[in-house]
Amino acid sequence: ILPLKTIDEVSEDVEKWAQQKKEELEVLRKNEAFRKEFLLNLSHELKTPIFAVQGYIHTLLDGALEDPQVNRMFLKNATKNIDRLCRLLDDLDEISKLESGEMTINPETFVIQDLTRDVFDTLSLKAGTKDIKFSIKKGCEAPLHVLADKEKIRQVLINLVDNSIKYGKASGHTVASFYNMDGKRVLVEISDDGIGMMEDHLPRVFERFYRTDKARSRDIGGTGLGLAIVKHIMEAHHQTINVRSKPDIGSTFGFTLDSGKE
Ligand code: ADP
Repeated sequence: ILPLKTIDEVSEDVEKWAQQKKEELEVLRKNEAFRKEFLLNLSHELKTPIFAVQGYIHTLLDGALEDPQVNRMFLKNATKNIDRLCRLLDDLDEISKLESGEMTINPETFVIQDLTRDVFDTLSLKAGTKDIKFSIKKGCEAPLHVLADKEKIRQVLINLVDNSIKYGKASGHTVASFYNMDGKRVLVEISDDGIGMMEDHLPRVFERFYRTDKARSRDIGGTGLGLAIVKHIMEAHHQTINVRSKPDIGSTFGFTLDSGKE
C-alpha cells in the first residue's frame, strides 16, 4: 500500500504535470509553425525557377524565337533555372533523409587533409572561374587522423568550400586549417576573404532557406539548404559547427571531428 500524500504534495504533482503538458504543447506548436514555414518557403523556392522558365518559354513563343541571339540567351537562362531546380530537389532529398533519422553514420579512420585536398580538386575548375586560390594553412600540413563518415564529411567540405567560392571575391583565397584540440578532437576551419556577413545573420545561417541576400544567393545558384545539411551531418556526428564573419573581410566556418583516440 502506498503511503497517502498530503494535499500539498498532490497539488505539487498536479502543477508539475500541468507544466509538463504545457511544455509539450509548446514543442508541438513550434513544430507545427516550423512545418508551415518550411512549406511556405519551399513552395516559394520551387515557384521562382518554374515561373522563370515559364516566362522564357512564353516570350520565345510570342516571337523572340525568331531572333537567334535572344533565343540562345533565353534558353541558357531557362537551363540555369532548371539546374537550380534539380539542385534544390537533390538537397531536399538529402535533408529529408537526414531529418527522418534515416541517415546512418559509417565511421572510418582517414586523414582529414587528404579529403580536403580531394574536395579542392573537385572544385578547382569552379574556383578557377573566379581566380580563387585554395590552400592549406602553413603549419597545418601534418596529417591528422579523424574517425567519421568520410562521404558525409566530404559533403560538409564541399558545401563549405563551394560557399567560399560563391561568396568569395574574384582573385580571393580559401584556406583550410586543421588543429589537434585536446588529443580527442580535431578542429577543421574553412576561411575565405569574401563578402562576409553581418553579425546579426550569423545565428541563423544554418536554418533551412535562410540567406543574407536571397536575390544574390539565387542568382549564383544557391538553394539555401547547404548549411542546413552541414549542420545536420555535424549533429549526427555529435560534433559542433560554428561561424565567424565580418562584412567585406570574410568568413570562417569551423567544425570539430572525433580523432578516434580515447
Ligand atoms: P546558399 O545555397 O544560399 O548558399 P547555404 O545554406 O549554403 O545556402 O548558405 C546560407 C547563406 O549563408 C547564404 O545564402 C549566404 O547568405 C550565407 N553564406 C554562407 N556561406 C558564406 C560565406 N562563405 N560567405 C558569406 N556568406 C555566406
